[in-house]
Amino acid sequence: MANPHGFDLVPRDVWGARAPKSPEVMKNPVPYVIIHHTYQPGACNTTEECIKAMKSMQDFHQLERNWSDIGYNFAVGGDGKAYVGRGWSLVGAHSPTYNDKSIGICLIGDWRYELPDNKLLDTVHKLIEYGVQIGKIAPNYLLFGHKQVREGTECPGDKLFQEISLWKHFSSTPPTVWSPNKNSKCCREIEETKVKVPPTAESLSWRRLHMSRAKLKATSTTSELLSGFAMIAMVELQINEGTAVPEWLFVMFSVCTTVLVAVHIFALMISTYILPNIDAISKLDVSELVSESPHERMKGFIQLACAFSTVLGLFLFLVEVAILCWVKFWDYSFTAAIAATVIVTPVLIIFVLFAVHFYHSLVVHRCDTSVTDLEKLEDMKKHLDEASSPV
Ligand SMILES: [Zn+2]
Repeated sequence: MANPHGFDLVPRDVWGARAPKSPEVMKNPVPYVIIHHTYQPGACNTTEECIKAMKSMQDFHQLERNWSDIGYNFAVGGDGKAYVGRGWSLVGAHSPTYNDKSIGICLIGDWRYELPDNKLLDTVHKLIEYGVQIGKIAPNYLLFGHKQVREGTECPGDKLFQEISLWKHFSSTPPTVWSPNKNSKCCREIEETKVKVPPTAESLSWRRLHMSRAKLKATSTTSELLSGFAMIAMVELQINEGTAVPEWLFVMFSVCTTVLVAVHIFALMISTYILPNIDAISKLDVSELVSESPHERMKGFIQLACAFSTVLGLFLFLVEVAILCWVKFWDYSFTAAIAATVIVTPVLIIFVLFAVHFYHSLVVHRCDTSVTDLEKLEDMKKHLDEASSPV
């Protein structure tokens, strides 16, 4: 059992492990090592006690939690021995989102207020070193305490955490923090679900809700900005006495400004009515409410607001800029006005082409998603039929 690195690595058959139910291979070398404590069972000091602790953990994870196996890749006991859990190359169940790229090492015991023996800590160091040497852990690996990658856990206990934060490979900045819905006791992880959840009518509705919300937000920002700007342009425009600007240009300017403001205000009106409802529901995250949300009933209005604000509204704004240049510069310089028009015209053409292209591809995308939505619904129906039909 002893290896050249001077610690005992206890194989599964020696501690009497049951076979894993659904082992999943992990790619080595892994970039992370994550340290845990058990909290319960408490510290073990003899091999007999440690084996008992290993068995009780496996029972809990495999039988009660219905996981594949004991969650950790390794556990280290107060007897100074390392016990093989899932081992070097199987995905563990100890730190969601990190399970498939880390070795989870559990130090058996509750290490909130006291530190494990040096014997135990030594073995942890040797185990990691050994993992690096046999190519299972990357030489430049980063080491974290469990609570750094998951909110709402004390694991691996304050005292032990202080200790590991002095270790050479410890990193104070884990790449991502996984936040659970509910806080749960340390080290008893929710294994990541590998089963793909079939989409439900509800999840599709949520997707549409988030889409509508994003659309309305974009609409209101654009409209606020552009209508405000157009109003200021009109109010601040200074007209000289005895100006040579023809009346029809003033008429064009005022018509364009008013239509522009009206279009944006209309879009704003729709989004200010609907957005708070949708926002509230998406924040509450209560599934019954999604059917009450106005985004399904008022789908047409949302599309209309979006089109008004982002297509017609933007188009009118560009026209407005061109007209404004003519009104402003008529008396001084035709060249300035012509220059502005020369610039605005191609921009307008590009804008129209882009809008057409964008809406076209959006429609194609929508058709595609409608087809897949339909297929999903049919799938659901089939499942329901199968479930309800007598065998
Ligand atoms: Zn933990």
